[in-house]
Amino acid sequence: RAKSAGGNRFELADPEADARAITRHGLTTALPAALDRGEFFIEYQPLVHLGDGSVRGAEALVRWLHPQHGVLGPDRFIPLAEHTGLIVPLGRWVLEESVRQAGEWRERGGDSDPFRINVNLSPCQLTHPGLVQDTVDILERAGVAPEALCLEVTESALIGADDDLLKPLRRLAEMGVDIALDDFGTGYSNLANLRRLPVSVLKLDRSFTQGMQQFPADPVDLKIVEGIVSLAHSLNLAVTVEGVETGAQAEQLRILGCDTAQGWYYARPGPPDRLHQLALVDATG
Ligand code: C2E
Ligand code: MG
Ligand code: MG
Ligand code: MG
Repeated sequence: RAKSAGGNRFELADPEADARAITRHGLTTALPAALDRGEFFIEYQPLVHLGDGSVRGAEALVRWLHPQHGVLGPDRFIPLAEHTGLIVPLGRWVLEESVRQAGEWRERGGDSDPFRINVNLSPCQLTHPGLVQDTVDILERAGVAPEALCLEVTESALIGADDDLLKPLRRLAEMGVDIALDDFGTGYSNLANLRRLPVSVLKLDRSFTQGMQQFPADPVDLKIVEGIVSLAHSLNLAVTVEGVETGAQAEQLRILGCDTAQGWYYARPGPPDRLHQLALVDATG
């Protein structure tokens, strides 16, 4: 694209913006075939119990192995998939594949294995009428109990949500599926609103964890997290913290009463085999 700069001179408007737009456009049109060709894959990041350090589950995080651009993170293509509606079949695939994987892990771990799988849901999936039935079918096919599944929905997706949007989540929660409020604290949180949401887990956003880098952390940061944790617990919600990168953060968040943690300090997202090794190492001490 060129823009006239007076007379007969033409200049590129903004070469970088153009390149980005071209890539965006290219990625968007490539998405459907990528799903058919199996170019998406899932990495798993362990969820660790802060009390005893045991691996309790994992979050499924989707990636795209693009034939030209290499591995692309979800921030590069999820918004595009949401825009075109491809997020519905893509999200269904992520759910199917990660629940299948969880079934395999639980089979190896035995009946008493509390191993759980967390899967992200986009707002578009919430409004899609097939969500509840698809989830039921997927769990059944994998032989996984609803209690082993946690669906993560961002706080911003549920801000101002009306009853129609909450209905499928309520149905899933009644079945025993956990619903987590992801990136909690980044939206303008109406704390009173929490009561009407069918959530059982708060995932505290990474920005709170970043405030725990110093030991001891800033007293105001400590008070804020302490307040959120006590509110969550009084509403019977478990608290998971994201983005734990250091032992100091883990220790302070444990003292503040957070239940579960996730972050590079424990493990980066990785292939399913690595997670299985972590869980095994953990189980044998
Ligand atoms: P999220 O659900 O909040 O996932 C956590 C993100 O934090 C992941 O980024 C993860 O790799 C990253 N992370 C984990 N530990 C650390 C840490 O210690 N430090 C730092 N700096 N980062 C850490 P990722 O994999 O790039 O995913 C980004 C977002 O994309 C996710 O945020 C989630 O909202 C979305 N996403 C991922 N997979 C899916 C999916 O299957 N469906 C949908 N709808 N969204 C997805
Ligand atoms: Mg998440
Ligand atoms: Mg999150
Ligand atoms: Mg986040």
